[in-house]
Amino acid sequence: MKPGNAMQDILSRQYYSHIIARIKKGGNVYSKNGITFYLTDSFGFCYGVDRAVDLAYATREKYPNTRLFLTTEIIHNPRVNKNLLEMGYQFLTGPYKGHVTVDELTAEDVVVIPAFGTDLQTLKRVLDKGCQIVDTTCGSVLNIWRRVESYIKDHFTVVIHGKHYHEETQATSSRVLKNPHGKYIVVLNMKEADHVAHYICQGGDKETFLKKFEKATSPGFDPDHDLEKIGLANQTTMLGSESLSIADHLKKAMLKRYGNKTLSEHFLNFDTICSATDDRQNAVMALEGKKLNLMIVVGGYNSSNTNQLCYISSQFASTYHIENFEDILSSEAIRHKPHGQWETVVTNDWLPKGPVNIGVTAGASTPDKVVGDVVEKILSFR
Ligand code: SF4
Repeated sequence: MKPGNAMQDILSRQYYSHIIARIKKGGNVYSKNGITFYLTDSFGFCYGVDRAVDLAYATREKYPNTRLFLTTEIIHNPRVNKNLLEMGYQFLTGPYKGHVTVDELTAEDVVVIPAFGTDLQTLKRVLDKGCQIVDTTCGSVLNIWRRVESYIKDHFTVVIHGKHYHEETQATSSRVLKNPHGKYIVVLNMKEADHVAHYICQGGDKETFLKKFEKATSPGFDPDHDLEKIGLANQTTMLGSESLSIADHLKKAMLKRYGNKTLSEHFLNFDTICSATDDRQNAVMALEGKKLNLMIVVGGYNSSNTNQLCYISSQFASTYHIENFEDILSSEAIRHKPHGQWETVVTNDWLPKGPVNIGVTAGASTPDKVVGDVVEKILSFR
């Protein structure tokens, strides 16, 4: 299903940016009135998000008079979700949740599944209502589910590098439980992976371990038994380099515990890092040598991949993660979310006087238009 010409025009008006197109054409560098912008080589809508948004718009076009629902945000970008609200979409859960619940759906309704998929329980409840489903789940996410299901078939516990509260990880872990003997544990970062590695090598206090991973393990998880055979998977939007390091760390732990000869009976890992996420993260790293005065990262505050871009750039430049141009309060003050914090803060004197080099990137769910508005707002100060 593709949007027709009329819908394509709307999509273009809402998401296309002339200034961003011009900057891309000029090699991603743009100078004016003493400000030089360095856009990363890769930023903004990825193929999965592009497809999901197209499908959502095409669905509205195909069913102009039908109630349309989303199980939750289609992607983690406020502008896109608000546009869908204005088009008549109702959200069943999440920050834009409307008054209709899954129990109140009828067979006449159409339900759109977001790019990061949905958990099997929600899917079943919607299917039981007889609704028509439009599934925009990204192929890279489906790939991970296939991998996870193969681990479980071979009686491996799935170790997911991800956020246990993120919709994609919840969808992935629900696939593990499709199989009655399926087990999973979600590790957020290297620190948590190290905890698991330590337990694999030396054991430990089971109760303390289970308490620590209380919200991140499958029901009845027993670390004494369920860490004997593990297969690695990751949430697509995590820091790719960290996913690799975690896999390596856990592999070493299994080697130590079981030796090289039987390693393949205890440890499995396949690269499931999404290439779009990887490209965007590498593109930020490539700006490191540009002598930037600051870096602007544009994207939803609840967007996992945008937060990772913010983390990477904050390693080498003063970084401001903003959702849109309205967060730039003036040439003096900017509202932004520092990496690792939930709340926004306002920072003064963010834009140096005189010539300034600004790096710009955006998460995989950020439309070019939102990035373009940010660039234009900054240019308006000179
Ligand atoms: S970030 Fe990767 S997995 Fe997620 S929608 Fe984009 S392409 Fe798909």
